[in-house]
Amino acid sequence: MSDPKFIPFHVPSIGEEEIQEVVDTLRSGWLTTGERTARFERDFKAYTGAQHALAVNSCTAALHLALAALDIGPGDEVITTPITFCATVNTILHVGATPVLADILPDGNIDPASIAARITPRTRAIIPVHLAGLPCDMEAIWRLARQHGLRVIEDAAHAAGTRYRGASLGCERGGFRSDAVAWSFYATKNITTGEGGMVTTDDAALAARMKVLCLHGISKDAWNRYAENGSWFYQVLEEGFKYNLSDVQSAIGIHQLKKIDRFAEARRAIAERYTRRFRDLEEVETPPAGEPGEHSWHLYILRLRLDRLGIDRNRFIEELKRRRIGASVHFIPIPLHPYFAPWADLPHNQCPRALAFYERIVSLPLFPDMTMEQADTVAAAVEEIVAANRTRPVADVVGAR
Ligand SMILES: *Cc1c(COP(=O)(O)O)cnc(C)c1O
Repeated sequence: MSDPKFIPFHVPSIGEEEIQEVVDTLRSGWLTTGERTARFERDFKAYTGAQHALAVNSCTAALHLALAALDIGPGDEVITTPITFCATVNTILHVGATPVLADILPDGNIDPASIAARITPRTRAIIPVHLAGLPCDMEAIWRLARQHGLRVIEDAAHAAGTRYRGASLGCERGGFRSDAVAWSFYATKNITTGEGGMVTTDDAALAARMKVLCLHGISKDAWNRYAENGSWFYQVLEEGFKYNLSDVQSAIGIHQLKKIDRFAEARRAIAERYTRRFRDLEEVETPPAGEPGEHSWHLYILRLRLDRLGIDRNRFIEELKRRRIGASVHFIPIPLHPYFAPWADLPHNQCPRALAFYERIVSLPLFPDMTMEQADTVAAAVEEIVAANRTRPVADVVGAR
């Protein structure tokens, strides 16, 4: 970084263990999917408590594989949130199904009541997104799914390290479970392999089907013979994709996974520091912390109170940048992307709460190696910008600190 004082939005935490394991992999002669990927899958299964884990080259691939393996396709509707990365919606389109948008709750996650209102005879699945690492109301979603015979695929791109009702996502709770959970190891996510992902499931048949689809539809047994014994014979059983994760990437993932709880702790400490600094500021709202120990704090999404500020969100981010602080927005709602607008603007996809949410959100820097001093610098900048732009006198503020 040319500017040493700049506080970036995100910095990955890569240690010597990751570097050494990558070097060892490069020297081993085996670069593609092999022993290290098998180990990463075993470790991830153990961490999440899921029955099956398949390493893939992105969370996008994980979502696509789950939808395809569940035979969701043309004529089917899949309900998701407008406050997500475009990948969630693109994968629904990849299988030829129709995305349907449900509005959000004040916490930013999908609203089960809005999902219920948008279920039709064509609805086949729900894809909730655990925004920022805060778990969705899965019990309400699972109940709806059971009542209407729907599949549930969790987009857990932000949620490696998130816990729900006392365990990792991906586990059964009180007789309920999702069909599949899709995880991301993209460079900015809670743990990373540079690019990468995982799909977990407790359904053995679904796991087997995803494994075949993950590698061109080549039968698993034939592939194992090909890879392990140097046998040249394999057969394509159906039209599949090229979604496997390489051992070079898994080498990073194995060591990132060992640090996942430490990373979550570090993120939580920064988030708590921010919230302590901001909770008495009338011009902003702090993000909900959820149940103790559940939130993995992938993002700290500050909400501006635009009725009390003389500047908008874009200007707020400009002001942060002027003070050499990186910030971002999660997310530009799906209907605001030109390609999605034609269907996302339809009456049954209207999400006014999501559009209003978008106007006031700013994601502040948050990463495990961030120092408290850096967090305080960011907090001071936010306080300064607020002080310079408040539209009501500070006397309104309850209790001076
Ligand atoms: C990052 C992200 C994805 C996509 O993850 P990739 O691993 O980059 O494919 C999907 N959904 C959400 C909510 C994300 O933030």
